[in-house]
Amino acid sequence: MHDPLSDAIGPPDVYVRGAPSPPPTQRLEGPRHAEVVVIGAGFTGLSAALHLAEAGVDVAVLEAKEIGWGASGRAFGQVVPYLKLGHEAILRHYGPARGQRIVDAVADGPDLVFELIGRHGIECWAMRSGLIFAAHSPSGRRDLESRTRYWQQRGAPVEMLEGARCAEAIGSRLYRAASLDRRGGNINPFAYARGLGRAVVAAGARICTQTHVQGLARRDGRWAIDVGGAGVTADNVVIATNAYTGDLWSGLRASIIPMRGHGFVSEPLSDNVQHTILPERQSLTDTRQLYSGVRMLPDGRLHASAHGASFGAEPKPDWRRVDARIRRLYPQLGRVRWQQGWSGWVAMTTDHFPRLHELAPGLFAGLGYNGRGIAAATMMGRDLATLARGACDDATVFPLSPLRPLHWHRIAPMLIRGLVQAYRVSDTVDDLRLRATA
Ligand SMILES: Cc1cc2nc3c(=O)[nH]c(=O)nc-3n(C[C@H](O)[C@H](O)[C@H](O)COP(=O)(O)OP(=O)(O)OC[C@H]3O[C@@H](n4cnc5c(N)ncnc54)[C@H](O)[C@@H]3O)c2cc1C
Repeated sequence: MHDPLSDAIGPPDVYVRGAPSPPPTQRLEGPRHAEVVVIGAGFTGLSAALHLAEAGVDVAVLEAKEIGWGASGRAFGQVVPYLKLGHEAILRHYGPARGQRIVDAVADGPDLVFELIGRHGIECWAMRSGLIFAAHSPSGRRDLESRTRYWQQRGAPVEMLEGARCAEAIGSRLYRAASLDRRGGNINPFAYARGLGRAVVAAGARICTQTHVQGLARRDGRWAIDVGGAGVTADNVVIATNAYTGDLWSGLRASIIPMRGHGFVSEPLSDNVQHTILPERQSLTDTRQLYSGVRMLPDGRLHASAHGASFGAEPKPDWRRVDARIRRLYPQLGRVRWQQGWSGWVAMTTDHFPRLHELAPGLFAGLGYNGRGIAAATMMGRDLATLARGACDDATVFPLSPLRPLHWHRIAPMLIRGLVQAYRVSDTVDDLRLRATA
């Protein structure tokens, strides 16, 4: 399998240009000890480190590349109050008590993200104008109506948009109905990661970049962390490497399926069309199986996510697919000049739920957000900090679960390519029907 850490291209320029400068980081030199070592400086690791440092714990974050280099610096940027599956599936999977706690906490996930952004003054294009989920098929519409009803009964600012209101909010006549959820919002995710990094350092923790952890061993009641040459010891360790997980701990990599997600930005659109698209600057996704995000960036660029190669080495951007989709959605744009394409890795799980593990005494891991990790990974980081301070999982949102490596992990790309192909066919059929009725 391709090692995600071997990708050559980092987070996209458009995000890097819009981000604050990184905090001072260090190289690990000589033997060191920290109460907690966090491995990985994405949202999970940075949130864990921030919550620990703010509680007065001595923390060191070790990152193989740079702050936000992984999925966190490449995400589409939607801060969602949902996991991949909805409230009914969560209640079924976790049972009524734990399930309800998770549904409620996930719904509050954007509050956590925007509160951290506000409290630490993170400049990251934060805009909480909501998220639009459009119905791409009759069954997609039924799902959205049921979800909207559920949240309306709980007093949440979620509504259905129909007909002309739907067309106006999206700037396109392609969809007949959509759900507008005002709890969510949009950010520059790389800037959020850097801002969290600055907050971590300001709270007194150390971040060591270009520090690839190569092994972990329990010695004399402490964890010995091997970073090749220099070493560090810790009372507790948090593994926050998500889809970029390597062979640090037996079975962890094989418990998730890393898949590539792709992003594309255009050159700035002309003034006269910019304002016709998502005029209130929500982002748009729809109910199809394969992801499909569109949003406008503050400088007038169109940002889209589209499906592409799911596995293997970094592909060239597939402009054709994204261009065809945008032309169907926004015919008023004419020819769009695409400027940059990139990809990053998301960690999928077989049941679509994230995982929180205690792998050994004092060794914790949180991962598997299935492409919905801006809020969920920030929450998971808080959970990991809670566990690393000695609490049990009664105090966390997600429950601890045993590590379950997938025995078919090696052939996962082959199996999933088949599944993705089937999704592509069913999405295309739905798309043709949608265009016929638009
Ligand atoms: C294209 C794309 C679009 C997405 N869009 C959205 C979206 O719109 N909304 C949303 O909620 N989620 C989205 N996601 C998902 C979200 O980005 C992730 O769930 C989230 O960033 C995971 O954060 P993380 O900190 O767990 O992992 P990462 O950000 O991937 O961080 C893991 C870090 O661990 C480091 N690492 C790995 N191994 C080692 C080692 N041995 N030693 C030291 N460091 C190591 C890596 O370098 C990396 O920086 C998207 C993801 C992608 C790829």
